[in-house]
Amino acid sequence: MLTTRSESAPAAEGPTPYPWRPAPALWATLGVHGAALALLAALPAFWPWVLAVLLANHVSLGIAGLWPRSRILGPNRQRLPAVAAGRGAIALTFDDGPDPAVTTEVLDALDAYGAKASFFCIGERAAAHPDLVSEIIRRGHSVENHSQRHPYSFACFGPGRLRREIDAAQQTIARAAGRAPRFFRAPAGLRNPFLDRVMAQTGLYYMSWTRRGFDAVRGDPEGVLARLTHRLAPGDVLLLHDGTPAKTPDGRPVVLAVLPELLALLKARGLVSISLPEAFGLNGPGAPPSPRSAQGQTPSRSALTADE
Ligand SMILES: [Zn+2]
Repeated sequence: MLTTRSESAPAAEGPTPYPWRPAPALWATLGVHGAALALLAALPAFWPWVLAVLLANHVSLGIAGLWPRSRILGPNRQRLPAVAAGRGAIALTFDDGPDPAVTTEVLDALDAYGAKASFFCIGERAAAHPDLVSEIIRRGHSVENHSQRHPYSFACFGPGRLRREIDAAQQTIARAAGRAPRFFRAPAGLRNPFLDRVMAQTGLYYMSWTRRGFDAVRGDPEGVLARLTHRLAPGDVLLLHDGTPAKTPDGRPVVLAVLPELLALLKARGLVSISLPEAFGLNGPGAPPSPRSAQGQTPSRSALTADE
């Protein structure tokens, strides 16, 4: 659950921490460990059974972390709030950039359709290409946190290491963008039970997706487009990649082959892509005003309490 936060906080200050409410599965884990200790104290001979239960508990948490759209480990937003969906909004999100060979062309394609998107940048790449990050912001999109180094072992990190990885990206990206990210997405979407508390401590909201096209690994634009648009509906959050995209047989980044068709299809269906901060009503006073805000159609803060 997102918590209501002060409307008066300037956007430049970035997110503020919010109270952490452990997910039911985490409370259950605490309960299992307490019961295990009590049973061991009373009946030490039962230790093999206790060990088996604890192992089963940890294996199930591990599996939950390997399932990017799972909500078992804590709030995980897969869709836009109902108020944004109600006005025909979806959200295009691009991971792993910025990339000088791809990101500018992605921005041009978005501009051609007046679409706004969210870029989950890797901190080290943002530091290497700060001009691209500021260009993303200048064109009205948002820049979000996708970790500092994109370690594939991220889900094996303890709480301190998770925090350092996310804090480093937060600072790097905020420096390049002039605005701190509000959302976080784990590398490859892989998490562990410590991450939800780090989200609350950093004030970031965890965001996954409704649907992905696997454009980082599949070289067929038709297949990627078909996966992204299968049962496409208002409120969907689509995942693409402007960093390390797969290539088509003629060597073109798949995302650039797919995007114009995807944007045309969205337009034909009356859907408009907006940034995540706009969809969730997080565009603070320091953010550029949007036409929709001017029309008083920005979602109310209460919409933020929804977990999707
Ligand atoms: Zn990634």
